[in-house]
Amino acid sequence: MKTSRFFINTLRESPNDAEIVSHKLMIKAGLVRKNASGIYSWLPLGLKILRKVENIVRKEMESCGAQELLMPGIIPSELWIESKRWEEYGPELLRIKDRHSRAFCLGPTHEEVITSLVRNEVTSYKQLPINFFQIQTKFRDEIRPRFGIMRAREFLMKDAYSFHANQESLDATYLEMFKAYSNIFEKLHLEFRAVIADTGNIGGTGSHEFHVLADSGEDFIASNDNGSYAANLEMVNLDQKLREINESKEPHQLIETPNIKSIKEVAEFFNTTIQNCIKTLLVTDGKNFYCICVRGDHEINFVKLKRLLAVEKELKMASEKDVLKIMGCPIGSVGPMTKKCSLYVDNDAFNCINFICGANQDGFHLQNANWNKKQIDKIADIRNAIDGDPSPDGSGVLKIKKGIEVGHIFKLGVKYSNSMKAFVTDSDGSSIPMVMGCYGIGISRIVAAAIEQNHDEKGIIWPLPLAPFLCAVVPIKRKSSPIVDKYAEKIYKQLTEMNVEVIFCDQNKRPGVLFSDLDLIGIPLRIVVSEKNITDEKIEIKLRKNNKTIFWGINDIQSFIEKFQSGEMDS
Ligand code: ATP
Ligand code: MG
Repeated sequence: MKTSRFFINTLRESPNDAEIVSHKLMIKAGLVRKNASGIYSWLPLGLKILRKVENIVRKEMESCGAQELLMPGIIPSELWIESKRWEEYGPELLRIKDRHSRAFCLGPTHEEVITSLVRNEVTSYKQLPINFFQIQTKFRDEIRPRFGIMRAREFLMKDAYSFHANQESLDATYLEMFKAYSNIFEKLHLEFRAVIADTGNIGGTGSHEFHVLADSGEDFIASNDNGSYAANLEMVNLDQKLREINESKEPHQLIETPNIKSIKEVAEFFNTTIQNCIKTLLVTDGKNFYCICVRGDHEINFVKLKRLLAVEKELKMASEKDVLKIMGCPIGSVGPMTKKCSLYVDNDAFNCINFICGANQDGFHLQNANWNKKQIDKIADIRNAIDGDPSPDGSGVLKIKKGIEVGHIFKLGVKYSNSMKAFVTDSDGSSIPMVMGCYGIGISRIVAAAIEQNHDEKGIIWPLPLAPFLCAVVPIKRKSSPIVDKYAEKIYKQLTEMNVEVIFCDQNKRPGVLFSDLDLIGIPLRIVVSEKNITDEKIEIKLRKNNKTIFWGINDIQSFIEKFQSGEMDS
């Protein structure tokens, strides 16, 4: 490909609304352009990368027997009413009407369409298991679209749905998909974790999310060093032995603590560690109030807490006003020893003795406080895991990392087949609901996640499987030097014949500008052809990844490419 025939338009400035690197770089490198909030066009350069992700995903899906189909992006409301999600889904579902006032929605996910399709096509257990996938544009009216295509409203997803006669068959396919997803992220050369995920309100028996590790990630994941355990923060089971509290308990004292508010200030005031202080927080679901205690160095995990309290609505911290009304003191002095509402204590907080806590009295704390078990409604795991917690599988300790969710696999069970009556005849003639699994990958989000993981101050550093071109051939002063022109064309031709994806910079751009563009776009190899190099019978190759310059025999480009592609040049 020659730059004169391939549209590349880089920008000097980052967009104003860009908060994260991938968003900035995707705009600056000219991969995407914004049309409206969370809605983007993919320019030819960006599309080349998107297609690479798509093809790796497609190949892997096909290699484990999934079959590609394509469903509509616009879905009639009737199907969503059948599954009851027309009411349940909320404003992320964009609802529209046609000229006859019939209601439709823009598909955010396709369980309904596939279930209705399969219930009409498949009638016998003999046709199962079957796994269909599509690579298609989804629309979700996200409350806060941000980070460019990372959290867009319109985005490209691979979604797959499998149908089974029984749970064992689903389990087998789920495992296959787990392996396929791991293969996909390995083939994309991305550092990832497969983590145990929450099954939310669908219930079901299993779910894993796949996360690309990156500091800008919105999710926290806990994993141990040897890779035997990884989970979403809310899924880390920190159940642990409660200690028998028969160590010497001191009598508690009420101590005046004027202007001491934060847990750090409290620990300093009492000359103790924050681990020996108890944080007491008042939480509400809008109806009831709950007093929650965690150790001073721990934080509440609201997903765990919500599960424990079995409440429907989201939990949030009670307002200053409510705290004053219920606890009789300001937030900084709240404590658990005088019971004002139901009391929930984290395991590790319960294991503290002779601790410091608020006294429910403005400007006072209790020293040497000890639990009165009778007052506690429940002692449970309600905190976030932190670095150094023992791994729940007994192997090593946990480290908390940030991740970007790029994939999600889920055992759906019979939720949709029951509500939408997707039944087949079983071997004994009975009619049974098909057991389902679903498997999603954010194709467009992967492009952004790959950039978050692979960039420097100059721009993108594509992992090789995603690079739009493996190399750029840059002739210096080609117009005035026929020999440069001849060699550059020759090298370009050679590379093309080797099936190497190469971009030939045939326009007369200043080398400095061109080099910084190529760095920004992230082309792995830059091959410079100049008169001096030709006299030396060399070409000059710059490696984007480690900034190394290598001089190589001008007639031996093939051996260089082979060495580079095999990873020999990495060090
Ligand atoms: P998130 O928690 O990030 O909103 P989700 O749980 O809603 O994701 P799924 O419904 O499991 O996502 O969708 C499958 C995949 O689609 C996700 O793993 C993610 O990679 C991608 N995805 C979801 N929402 C978006 C979005 N708004 N923009 C881009 N990709 C998305
Ligand atoms: Mg979402």
